[in-house]
Amino acid sequence: MTVLSLDSVRLTYPDGDRRLTALDAVSLEVAAGELLAVAGPSGSGKSSLLAVAATLLRPDSGQVVVAGRDTARLSDKERTALRREHIGIVFQQSNLLGSLTALEQLLVVEHLRGGSVRAARERAGALLDSVGLDAAKRARRPHQLSGGERQRVNIARALFGRPAVLLVDEPTSALDHERGARIVDLLARVTAEHATATVMVTHDRALMARADRLLDMTDGRLAAVPTPAVRS
Ligand code: ADP
Ligand code: MG
Repeated sequence: MTVLSLDSVRLTYPDGDRRLTALDAVSLEVAAGELLAVAGPSGSGKSSLLAVAATLLRPDSGQVVVAGRDTARLSDKERTALRREHIGIVFQQSNLLGSLTALEQLLVVEHLRGGSVRAARERAGALLDSVGLDAAKRARRPHQLSGGERQRVNIARALFGRPAVLLVDEPTSALDHERGARIVDLLARVTAEHATATVMVTHDRALMARADRLLDMTDGRLAAVPTPAVRS
């Protein structure tokens, strides 16, 4: 079942007295439980793609459908609600709060939603456990965790709201190859377990074979990569 689809999306940014085309006729579909990797060099439009999919930016033209809703038809308020209910985002810049423990990073989400923190505590603990943070590490603040562990907290936090769509920007850029590979394996596992439609963008082609499907991004355009080339 397709959960996220982009159809002929075009996005431009102001660039002096011209416009810079960041996304050019971009179309894709991602099903529940599928991990799609988008690889491309810096500046090719990967973060812009995720921003449009996340409904944080409106495309100049084209359609973005999330969980069956055509996002162009929604008011700002409705889009914010859609994002909160259906979309989990792991940003390139980790935005964990320095004063909170790993567990509290998740609980603050529940608090901001007005939910019961007490009821959420058990589920947050289980989620952190499932991404590889044991009880001792769940009590640590970001600076007491490794880069890979912080990325695991980011992923758990994005999953905490039970999103249908999971968007992940360059999850391995701060990690060595071995740790990066383990993060991509984790994304593949949580995508299956939580049945999310997951899009991971990266400039690191080496890790991409672990995804279900791979697309190449060049100058704002997406192209398929032949399957044999990505299966080593
Ligand atoms: P990537 O994530 O692949 O590095 P981006 O989506 O960040 O690529 O950027 C795509 C292009 O759009 C680049 O040329 C970048 O300089 C430009 N760009 C990104 N964000 C903005 C912005 N807010 N204003 C103007 N240009 C931008
Ligand atoms: Mg980027």
